[in-house]
This record gives sequence, structure tokens and C-alpha cells, in this order.
Amino acid sequence: MSDCCSAPGLLPFDCALENMLSQIAPVTQTLTLPITQALNYVLAQDIASPLNVPNHDNSAMDGYAFAIESLAQGNTLKLVGRSMAGAPFQGECKLGECIRIMTGAKMPACCDSVEMQENVHVEAEQITFLQDKQLGSHVRKAGEDIQLGQHVLSQGHKISAVDVGILASLGVSDVTVYRKLKVALIATGDELKLPGQALSSGDIYESNSFVLRGMLEKLHVDVIDFGIIEDDFDAIKAAFVSADSQADAVISSGGVSVGDADYTKTVLDDLGEIGFWKIAMKPGKPFAFGKLPHSFFFGLPGNPVSALVTFHQLALVALTKMQNADALKRTSIQVKCISDLKKSPGRMDFQRGVLSVNEQGENVVESTGSQGSGILSSLARANCFIVLPSEQGKVAAGEMVTVQLFDQFIC
Ligand code: AMP
Ligand code: MG
Repeated sequence: MSDCCSAPGLLPFDCALENMLSQIAPVTQTLTLPITQALNYVLAQDIASPLNVPNHDNSAMDGYAFAIESLAQGNTLKLVGRSMAGAPFQGECKLGECIRIMTGAKMPACCDSVEMQENVHVEAEQITFLQDKQLGSHVRKAGEDIQLGQHVLSQGHKISAVDVGILASLGVSDVTVYRKLKVALIATGDELKLPGQALSSGDIYESNSFVLRGMLEKLHVDVIDFGIIEDDFDAIKAAFVSADSQADAVISSGGVSVGDADYTKTVLDDLGEIGFWKIAMKPGKPFAFGKLPHSFFFGLPGNPVSALVTFHQLALVALTKMQNADALKRTSIQVKCISDLKKSPGRMDFQRGVLSVNEQGENVVESTGSQGSGILSSLARANCFIVLPSEQGKVAAGEMVTVQLFDQFIC
């Protein structure tokens, strides 16, 4: 840990992240998959192109292929053959001659330019070119997209739908990828009920694991759902032991704040080396991270907004490293804030905001209103976090603030 992390009091957000990432060990096991099954996996190999794309000079238009030199002798050329996609012209095309050619068809060796069919006059086998042409017109050159041997995708890259298409265009049928992570989800709390169950007095519906499951599925991991575990030492211990034996990472929500943390903390202290941190961030002060015998543990706060924000800002970054994937890139911009924002110095705030373009065409951000850590609907209305640094106090409307756009995990 760097110096700032050993200071007394709340743990700065950056130190918590740095500390966590320094302990994470990425998966090493790989598997080879057909590209049709490789979507969202993390590449375990670099991909260099085994060929030129396109593989041969070809026509970008339906029209006529010719040598530009031919037009120096007159604008009418004799049609002597045709080149179709998949059935190239095999013969010879001399000066003064041209070839009927279709989009994607291979350029005949003796031709260097194409005129589109709309710009010629056809009379039997006499093709009259109605406009001047430039050398190479409407010709797609071999390798103009990707060259033989060119580096195309890197190890650590998460394979997108476009990437699957690129791999196919290179003739690559299989790729080596890192295996999927298995992530166990545990919700703790006697007051929690599943949607569909009746609520008794004092109960609430469990929502954290539903949000987390969605975000984990977008991360492309296998989720093992342990459901709701009551606030009972033996039940919590059994769940954690079982989760640790099956998963690469165990994520719990609830039970890490002072008060009802005792069972979770006692169980975890028994099982592994877990740091119970108070991070200088809002929402989400209580957060636990550490190593169980076979897995990494992330203990999120119970409040729904706190659980989501700590998962998104901390656990997701660590899980991405575990996957061996390139670090997440999040987009932050400076914009004018058009609401007054409450804030006291001492913690880094992730307030919920709505970014929009005003009538003058400027980007502006406005608060979603009440920022209570239990108000999940504030996240549903938002499209960004207004990130206020620890030392910052309240913000008056009109001041500039940093906004972090929601990424694919929240949207
Ligand atoms: P805790 O951290 O266990 O003290 O919980 C803090 C607050 O979050 C309490 O109001 C809990 O009822 C609520 N909470 C805890 N777990 C969940 C959950 N899985 N879904 C929704 N709310 C929760
Ligand atoms: Mg609880």
C-alpha cells in the first residue's frame, strides 16, 4: 500500500482500489473455442492477420474494368469478357479493351481502374466512357483493410460482435481465450424476501443480487446465486464455505456495516484474510475485501445504491483484472452543473446526475435529487455520476464539475 493508505481515518478511494488491485491474481487457464462461441470472452493470444483483407484487388462497383492507358487512345473500348465475384476473368485484356465487372469481383491482371455502369453507353460490344477517369478509380486494393501479418487484436481484448466478424474475415475459425470466472452472490439479512413472497412486518424485498447479477452477466461471468442467507452464524458460515469452494470470487451484500456486521465479520475472520475498510467515498463507506482459501471476497454494503456504486467502482475493476481483460475505460468530462449540490469535505462523492444538452448546445448536468443511499430509483433516472473529490465542499449551480458517464454495466 502506498503512504496515503496507511494514514489513520477513512481509506481514500484510490488507495482502496490500488490495494485491491495489487492483491488480485488473474485467471491463467485458457480454452480454445470456435469463433461463434467466443463473443465476450477475453483473448489469451494476439491475433496477426494470416492474409490481406481484401485478399485481391477488386471492384467497388458494378461496371467495367480497364487499363487507364486505353482511354488515351479514345473513349470507346471493346468488351472482351467478364469478372464476377467468385468467378474471375481468366483471359487477357489488351489496350483498347475492357471487362464487365461486378462489385467484389477480382480485378483482371491487366486492368487498373473501374468505371461504374451508370457512366457508360453500351452498344453491343462497344462501351463508350462518358467521363474522364483517374487511375485506380473504384478499385479496392488488396490489403487496404488489413495487411498480411498486421497485428489485429491483442491478448486481453474482450471479443465484440465486430471482432467475431473480423476474425471470420481473416479465415480464423478458433481462438484461445481465458476461461470464464465463476462468481458467487450472497445476500444477507433477516429482513429480506424474494419478489413473489409475502412481506411480513419490517421486511423488504431483496434487490441487490438482482442488480449485481445483471451487471455480472454483462461482464460475462458465470453467476452462482446463493440467494438470501439469514443473519445466523452457522448459516452464513455454511454459505461462505460453499461459495468459496465453487467460485473464483464471492460477493456478499449487507452485514458489513457496524451493528449487524458481527456474524459476517466473525465468519470471514475465521475463514480468510479480509480487510474491513471504511472507504472515504459516498455512497458506500463500509466495504470488505480480501482472500478466502480459494477465492477473492468482496463485501458490499447493504444499501442498494451503496452496493451498486461500490460494485461498479471497485469490485468490477478488480473482476476485470481477474478476467485478464484490458482495464475498463470510463469516460469523464467537465460540464456545468445546473443544480446546487450538498457535500461536506472528507469523502469522494458519486452523486447521481442527468447529463443533457441545453438550448445553447452546452452539456449540463443536473442532480437526480435526493441522494440517499437507499434510493435505487435515483440510479434509474440518472445517466452519469457527478464525481466530487474528497476535499470538495458544496457545489453552487453554475460551477463546473466532473461527470463520469454510465457505461454498459449500468445502462
Ligand atoms: P446492512 O448493511 O446489512 O446493515 O444493510 C443496510 C441496509 O440495506 C438495510 O436497510 C438493509 O435492509 C438494506 N439491504 C441489505 N441487503 C439488501 C438487499 N440484498 N437488497 C435490498 N436492500 C438490502
Ligand atoms: Mg443486514
